[in-house]
Formats: sequence, C-alpha cells, structure tokens
Amino acid sequence: MRRRKFLGRSVAGSLALGGAAALQQPPPAYGQSPNLPPAVTPTAYAVPKGEYNASLTSDYHTYASDLVIERDQPGKPHQGKVLAAIQAHSDDITLFCAGAVAKLIGEGYTGYLIRLSNDEKAGKTVGHGVVQNEIDNQEAAKALGCKKAFSFYYRNHRMDDCAMIEIRQRLIFLFRLLQVNTVFAMDPYDHYDENPDHIVVGKAVESASWMASPGGGHEYPEQLKAGLKHCQIRERYYHSRAPQGHNLVNRVVDISSYIDHKVRSNVANKGKGPAGDNGMRLRQELARQGKKLPLLGNDDDSANFHYVKHFLMDDFRILGKQFGLEYAETFRYIGQEPSLRQAVRKYVDGHAVPL
Ligand SMILES: [Zn+2]
Repeated sequence: MRRRKFLGRSVAGSLALGGAAALQQPPPAYGQSPNLPPAVTPTAYAVPKGEYNASLTSDYHTYASDLVIERDQPGKPHQGKVLAAIQAHSDDITLFCAGAVAKLIGEGYTGYLIRLSNDEKAGKTVGHGVVQNEIDNQEAAKALGCKKAFSFYYRNHRMDDCAMIEIRQRLIFLFRLLQVNTVFAMDPYDHYDENPDHIVVGKAVESASWMASPGGGHEYPEQLKAGLKHCQIRERYYHSRAPQGHNLVNRVVDISSYIDHKVRSNVANKGKGPAGDNGMRLRQELARQGKKLPLLGNDDDSANFHYVKHFLMDDFRILGKQFGLEYAETFRYIGQEPSLRQAVRKYVDGHAVPL
C-alpha cells in the first residue's frame, strides 16, 4: 500500500497562527476550525490520527447527513448470502476493511477474497514478492473466515495498462459463479489514489457488479447459456484510501467484536506492509539488547499480534471513539434502492380504480 505522509493539519493550523507559542495551543476540536470565517462551516473534516502515524485512515472525510452506524446483529441474519472482498494487493482489504468483512461473515455471509495483482513489487525480490504474497492472500482469507481466495495475477502497478474489459469480464464470471450479493472494494468514486492499481480495481468492481446482475442485461450471453445465472449484487461497501480525495462516508461499521480477526489477517501479510512479522522482529531486536517490551508478550506469535493491534489499529480506535465505538471502519455504502418498476407498481396498487 504505501502512501505519502502529510504535515499534520493541526500542526499546520497552529503554525498559521504564528510562532512557537501557537504550537503549544491544543489542536482545534474535530469538526471545528478557528481559521474559517464565522458563517462558513467545514464541508470536509480532517480525520484524527493516532500517535503512531500508521496512516491507515483517510486524511479527510465528507460525512453524509444520512450516516448509518452499522452495529453487531445477533444470530446469523446473513445466512445464505455471499460477499466478495476484492483487492488489488494482498494487504488492501486486511488493512482498510477487514473488520467489516469479518463481521458480515460472522453474521452468516459466505465470503470470498479476490486479489487482482500478483504483488510482484512487494517482496525481497520480484520473485519472492509473487510467491510470498500469494501465500499471504490465502492466509489472510483464512483469518477472515473466507471460504476461498482467488488471484488474477495481473502485474503489480501495471494494471492501468490492462484491458478494463478483460478485468471486468473475469469479475463478472466469478460474481455469477459464486452468486455474490455484496462487494467490498476500494472506492471507485474517490478523486485520486497514488497507487494506480487501486482505482483500476474499484472501477472494475463497480461496473462488473452492475453488469453481472439482471440490470446489466445480456452481458456475456455465453456465460448464461452455459449455465451461469445473473447474480443480485445489492450492497456495495467502498472503503477509501485516497489521501486528499472525495472520501464520502455514509456508513460507520462497528468492528469492535472483530478487531482480533482484523489483526490476524494483517499478521498474515508477511510479504509486505506494516504488519506481518514486525512484532517478532522488534522483540528479537530488543532481546539482543537485553531488553523487552511487555506489550509484545513472551513469544513471536504474541509479539506479532500485539504489535499490530497496538500500533496499527490505533487509527481505527480513534475513528471509533468519535462515534462511541471501541473500533470502527468507514465506508461509502451503496445499497439497493427500490426500482422504478416497483415504485410504479406500488402507486398502481394504491391508486387504481375500477373502469
Ligand atoms: Zn494496495
């Protein structure tokens, strides 16, 4: 994943006030800005970050007035439904939305993890990146409770040179075969993401979700003639990574009950990213110096788990705190709207009179 770092907004704002004394002032409360004229209210909000600078949440959010907080549901209300979590790289879903994916699987969904790149740029060597990240994708899927993991193996960071129509067709085939109802992916409506693969995947998922459904019409008729059926994708959870983009948020998912699933899926990413074996390495480094960090526990597995939970999940803890939740993830959520045909039928049912 990798992203550029930005000067913290609160520090930049304090500097604008002038001098070292201004630096000692506390940063403005979330949702407020002392630099805006009185009649102007913010339309985008700087997202507060943890002290560890993991940068796993967006820099800015635009919150919708119909924001929904999705909480745990008792039992298995999603039994019989299928979700596909689609990512460019083996750590995209795990870092940005693994909590919500694990939550829906915990509530009854059958889940599938689909990776589109071969992650060749992210390893000790190109070859190592391909092999290790393939393993990681499988292990992350297990940690999330997914039934199966797929990879399309497009070359890493070269996917905007691939034919969109081919990526889309491969997704449509899987969506129909697996009878997917819900998708997770990078937000295709974000303004910009420096990683070129992310926006390619988001756009492919958005169009494939529609075209695989009856609303898309007779797309790829040979698939249908061969026995595949249209699928009904009624829900889309789009997560954001764009540092400066249009990160619209209309759904906050309470992931508190599934934070350990999210941690374990990130520990599974050993080929790249900020998680993997970093806890073990830190523990071993300290041991060579005759020291230890109680947080990391007494073995490598414990060190990896607690390193990720403490240092990397902090941004999601801070995000959740704003909504009274222990941990949260945010989404642009697109649900199923009643169709025009259904609305007309409802009107007819209520208004038709005898001739
Ligand atoms: Zn990525």
